[in-house]
Amino acid sequence: MLELTDLRVIRALAQRYDFSFSKGLGQNFLTDPEVCPAIAEYGIPDRACGVLEIGPGFGVLTQQLALRAERVAAVELDRRLQPVLQETLADFDNITVLWQDIMKADPAALIAEQFPGREVTVCANLPYYITSPILMHLLESEARLRSITVMVQKEAAERLCAEPGTRAAGAVTAAVRLRGEAELLFHVPREAFYPAPKVDSAVIRITPYAEPICTPETLRSVLRIVKAGFAQRRKTALNALASGLSLPKEQIAAALAECGLPETVRFEQIGLETLLQLEAALRD
Ligand code: SAM
Repeated sequence: MLELTDLRVIRALAQRYDFSFSKGLGQNFLTDPEVCPAIAEYGIPDRACGVLEIGPGFGVLTQQLALRAERVAAVELDRRLQPVLQETLADFDNITVLWQDIMKADPAALIAEQFPGREVTVCANLPYYITSPILMHLLESEARLRSITVMVQKEAAERLCAEPGTRAAGAVTAAVRLRGEAELLFHVPREAFYPAPKVDSAVIRITPYAEPICTPETLRSVLRIVKAGFAQRRKTALNALASGLSLPKEQIAAALAECGLPETVRFEQIGLETLLQLEAALRD
């Protein structure tokens, strides 16, 4: 198995396949030999669990996942990586690389096709330029996941693991908490990557609730409200929702009152349970 945390190996592969790292695709590859095994250990509950990886890059995390799970499917957008992965993953017969944009894939359909009859977990070192959209895409889909263990920018990790209703929270915080629990597992400094990014990172794990707290339909509806509310977080919830949802202010005011909220409340101050009440009030 090629030692993909060794900088000489990475540079030799890049040279052999004339590969240049794309900033635009968030290509910062892991070079700390302890990080990928740790992500795999935290992310894979048992060997039978299928693993979906997003963005295998040169395959440094993919190798560790394939050592611990019976089946791995890795979705990669950059086709220039095809000859590299052919070489770096040659020792494994339990990995399928799918050449597509994860944002254009239907996670539930992809999982049903790749992992029939298996529980599935997601493990990844996510491209930072679309961390939140990817997580939203997974959380909004009807895919039933055992867990999502991902490396994200440190600030994003703090937002994702924040308490809803606090200043640190954002739209993605609510999306996470409507589906499960989030925990920050460990920090990773920028020096652990090649090329080194300008920011530090952290690994988080989202564990979906065994029983969903709302239907997929309600979830989509709450997320529409959440996106509208956080799009203009400096405004009052009344103004942000009226303009974001294109609804009359009187209707929003009545729904806020029904939930016992003052008209001056800011969206970020609204906790999870009240959010669900607000969705019901607006639906009525
Ligand atoms: N897993 C490798 C590692 O840890 O070293 C690479 C991680 S790198 C931060 C992110 C990877 O995601 C890159 O390989 C990049 O090409 C890929 N990527 C970027 N956008 C993507 C998308 N929309 N769908 C699938 N993969 C994407």
